[in-house]
Amino acid sequence: MTTSSQFDYDLLVIGAGSGGVRASRVAASLGARVAVVEAGRLGGTCVNVGCIPKKLLSHAAHFSQAFEEARGFGWQVPQARFDWATLIANKDREIHRLNGVYDQLLAKAGVELVTGRARITGPHSVAVGDRTLSARHILVATGGRPQMPAIAGIEWAISSDDAFSLPELPRRVVVVGGGYIAVEFASIFNGLGAETTLLHRSARLLRHFDADLGAALAAQMAHHGVQLRLERQIEAIAQHVDRGDDGLQLQLDDGPALIADCVLFATGRVPNTEGLGLEAAGVQLDARGAVLVDEGFTSSIPSIHAVGDVVDRMALTPVALAEGTVLAHRLFGGADKAAPDYALVPTAVFSHPNVGTVGLSEAQARERHGDVQVFESSFRPLTNRLSDTPEPVFLKLVVAGADQRVVGVHMVGEEAGELIQGFAVALQCGATKAQFDATLGIHPTIAEEFVTMREPVAS
Ligand code: FAD
Ligand code: NDP
Repeated sequence: MTTSSQFDYDLLVIGAGSGGVRASRVAASLGARVAVVEAGRLGGTCVNVGCIPKKLLSHAAHFSQAFEEARGFGWQVPQARFDWATLIANKDREIHRLNGVYDQLLAKAGVELVTGRARITGPHSVAVGDRTLSARHILVATGGRPQMPAIAGIEWAISSDDAFSLPELPRRVVVVGGGYIAVEFASIFNGLGAETTLLHRSARLLRHFDADLGAALAAQMAHHGVQLRLERQIEAIAQHVDRGDDGLQLQLDDGPALIADCVLFATGRVPNTEGLGLEAAGVQLDARGAVLVDEGFTSSIPSIHAVGDVVDRMALTPVALAEGTVLAHRLFGGADKAAPDYALVPTAVFSHPNVGTVGLSEAQARERHGDVQVFESSFRPLTNRLSDTPEPVFLKLVVAGADQRVVGVHMVGEEAGELIQGFAVALQCGATKAQFDATLGIHPTIAEEFVTMREPVAS
């Protein structure tokens, strides 16, 4: 590539999260002079208040179920005690280690780190504090932030950002929402021993997924003790004082108020573009504030690009990583990299039990293909058959078209994410039902069921 000395940098990245760090490192490896500006902690949402700490808390919460199941296998488990302070301190130590790993990764790649809040001041210039930096290309990788509804008393509520550093485990928690974060945090609080209510405005959890997944998850969460309050909304929050039992009073649209010690709103996230100077620089945003980009992740201003949650396509770490890689190759002359295939992005929800999914839901397949077959299985896996409360797993294959291609693989059950990852490769290769059938199972596993389902569900 040719470097231009007219500018301080070839690429100036705003945001050292998943997408920004990946784009910086790849661009530097292709010879670009790169700096990344970060206002917070290295690693962004995923490392500090997202995937990583969430998975650690989710794992911690799973032990209560494991202790229960152990009894059926002959273990005498004394009353277990959980200590929130220990979990949070250990989690913080691991996050701190990862912040250091990111710092080293950037340094090793030769990427300069600039600490501070960036504001775009022109097509090639960015202000950070009292410095002005110039760059041939600017990448906006500023991620997203929690969206809280404007209801009376919302200042008493917390978002997922706050949930990772609560001073103690609340006794009574209400989690609001029916998406990824709501079901994951309701499962975490419930597993750790809090009295947990999941309150959702509609009847269906995880509504962007196959409808059977939300239904199976709701049944399992209720079975594990989460109180589900569906088709309900909180209209106002106030302090509740009751002689030694103080808390929050949650006024509902219908029915008596709920009393809780903590209310967490997991009601979606919005792109982080406020105060960035994008509109003044001529960059077009959509109604939610996301940067509008073309197929190559370039905005309406040719020198300004955006990847990750700030473009609001699919807010997942591997997607931000893939987009950052594609952009860096496109700008600095690496091998041609195709943009991710958004239709085949596998994803897992780390609720208890987990949900894993890739490809089309049954409804999407019926809309796109005339000829659709569905294969389902719900059974109690061997490993929890001896426990008092065996948890069923739910598996579903969606098959479409004359060539009987598998277009969707869906699961509710422990380790669904681990399992769906492999099937995502099969879908990427265009596997057919006949190829699934020709594949031998691994016995005894849950996954073998995916290659032994023979009878379609009657439609
Ligand atoms: P981010 O990682 O958010 O990075 C943006 C960075 O920009 C931040 O560090 C921010 O401080 C910085 N920044 C913002 N504005 C400025 C500015 N003006 N100047 C300087 N710096 C700035 N995804 C998964 O794939 N799996 C999961 O299990 C998962 N779990 C999640 C759990 C939770 C609770 C949340 C909230 C998200 C989760 N996600 C998960 C989503 C994932 O975290 C995001 O998709 C991913 O982090 C997006 O990366 P990004 O680079 O776009 O932005
Ligand atoms: P989601 O979009 O998944 O869910 C938001 C939920 O909030 C929906 O159920 C929605 O209801 C509800 N909601 C929206 N507005 C309101 C409102 N005003 N009042 C009441 N309820 C409302 O967002 P999340 O916040 O859960 O997560 C954000 C994104 O982060 C996810 O989409 C995902 O991309 C990423 N993420 C990924 C994870 C993973 O990979 N495991 C884990 C966590 C987050 P309705 O369904 O009716 O629209």
